[in-house]
Amino acid sequence: MNPFLELGIRHEIVSAITELGFEKPSPIQEKAIPVLLTGNDDFVGLAQTGTGKTAAFGLPLLEQLDFSSKQPQALVLCPTRELCLQIARDLEKFAKHLDNVHVVAVYGGANISDQLRQIRRGVQIVVATPGRMLDIIGRNAIDFSNVRYVVLDEADEMLNMGFQEDINNILSETPDDKKTWLFSATMPKEVRRIAQNYMTNPFELTVGTKNTGNTNIEHHYYMIKAKDKYAAFKRIVDFYPEIFGIVFCRTKIETQEIAEALIKDGYNADSLHGDLSQQQRDKVMKRYRERNLQLLIATDVAARGIDVNDVTHVINYSLPDETENYTHRSGRTARAGKTGISISLINVKEMSKIRHIEKIIGKEFIRKQVPQGTEVCEKQLFAIIDKVHNVEVHEDRINTFLPQILESLQDLSKEEIVKRFASLEFNRFLNYYEDAPDLNIDGRDNGREREGRDRDGRRQASKGFTRLFINLGSVDEFSRGDMLSFICNKSKISGKSIGKIDLKGVFTFFEVQDEEVERVFQGFQGVDFNGRNVRIEVSGEGRSSDRGGRGGSRRSGGDRERGGSYGSRNGGSGRRDRNSGGGFRDFSSGKGRRESKSRY
Ligand code: AMP
Repeated sequence: MNPFLELGIRHEIVSAITELGFEKPSPIQEKAIPVLLTGNDDFVGLAQTGTGKTAAFGLPLLEQLDFSSKQPQALVLCPTRELCLQIARDLEKFAKHLDNVHVVAVYGGANISDQLRQIRRGVQIVVATPGRMLDIIGRNAIDFSNVRYVVLDEADEMLNMGFQEDINNILSETPDDKKTWLFSATMPKEVRRIAQNYMTNPFELTVGTKNTGNTNIEHHYYMIKAKDKYAAFKRIVDFYPEIFGIVFCRTKIETQEIAEALIKDGYNADSLHGDLSQQQRDKVMKRYRERNLQLLIATDVAARGIDVNDVTHVINYSLPDETENYTHRSGRTARAGKTGISISLINVKEMSKIRHIEKIIGKEFIRKQVPQGTEVCEKQLFAIIDKVHNVEVHEDRINTFLPQILESLQDLSKEEIVKRFASLEFNRFLNYYEDAPDLNIDGRDNGREREGRDRDGRRQASKGFTRLFINLGSVDEFSRGDMLSFICNKSKISGKSIGKIDLKGVFTFFEVQDEEVERVFQGFQGVDFNGRNVRIEVSGEGRSSDRGGRGGSRRSGGDRERGGSYGSRNGGSGRRDRNSGGGFRDFSSGKGRRESKSRY
């Protein structure tokens, strides 16, 4: 027998939830449904979001309401519009095979007359955010005298958002003998007070340990220097090619800045914060829900109630000010029995916060190392291979071209073809990560140097050569060959004087024989390219370029004269980010990754 039937849920509802893929009750459903079905008790459920609590209260509601009447009999209050819509949608799905079930979602930021019309037509279940609910009550547009059940969902979040008074006012409109069912992820004293004020001997249920995060979530932290945060963040994102994540920032401004930087860098990201209009929020959420966005950058408040399944990672770009919010944030992943990772980017001083959070969630964090460029490349390579395996082939369309394709490739062995297809994408990662430094604090501080690199991980010039930087790259549609001729033309030197050329997105490194460096600098004086001033600088600790102050060894003190030029050790954010990892997605689209401009 279906376990939901055994719990006392009727056939029609069971068949609807079976269609939704519910095979057996989640722990909270198993425990709460029998209690709530009696209709006798007030109820407090301490449960994380994603545990299946909507069905835990929704199924008993559907079992007990009288759908032959069109009076509101149940009121569900929740903190956000997103959650409100989600609950209303879920209830309608559960009631798919029942007749005359009317659910209305009442929330701010949408046309009130539509909602009033639905209420006038008759509804049994009202799902509402507190502000709009009060508005409707204030218009005398709803009669709550027949309400038998009030559900307070995500009570802690409602209180966090300052809805205490609104909730009091709404509850005072409902009959005294109604039953109140409260669900909360955490139990701060304010929530406890609601339970005391509005409930009589509530049945209390905790799913998992109190305040304990979902056990399917792994908690990772990366220790990095503040100045490397953005670069490290991108590298971590790149290390998880299939990431579908929510990135939490502390402020609206940070949220917006990170999102903008990511978009510029070619990532599929957007921001969600309080300054957006409801319409803008809806648009962003729609894109995210439909997976047209890979990274949603959000503030705590804006992300409340976000109910999206399959979020693989929550990234705490900044740790929350309120430690309790960490639980809310990480609870956005590992929903419905899935697993997820909650990542925190911290500096040394924030270690104590991590220890504090560990106490609250009752789980240890795992320290992770920011992946090296080569590790990211490897991960990405195998993601490409997976993609090749899984790509949908439109036989009818491709077959038309197949003979021609096969003919063009006939001189290549299978191995050659595989290599070339993989390299199409892989070369971009290799190029990008070639100069990527170690971003781990230990990695940086232990003085470990990689072969051919200086302490900051930058590649050193070959013997007899100076490594120069030029602010033009592949996004300016240069190939290596183009760059070679461009440099030779402008500098009036032979191609033989040029060594390795590392073509990047918005810039390029190239080696020049020491004795020709001066000619390169002279040749490029006043040169512009498509209206942009072309800049040549000495990179890293390369050989002396004998250019007086400008090209001299960095130890000579020339750094200061160069005033934050690319070659200086402390040369501003420009150098750091140019060398950092993360930039491959946009190269094909010709959009520049402006890591050099990053402020993070
Ligand atoms: P909730 O905590 O109510 O937001 O539920 C989280 C997700 O789990 C939703 O997508 C539900 O559809 C899904 N879900 C809830 N209960 C079950 C169940 N018993 N079996 C499978 N999925 C479920």
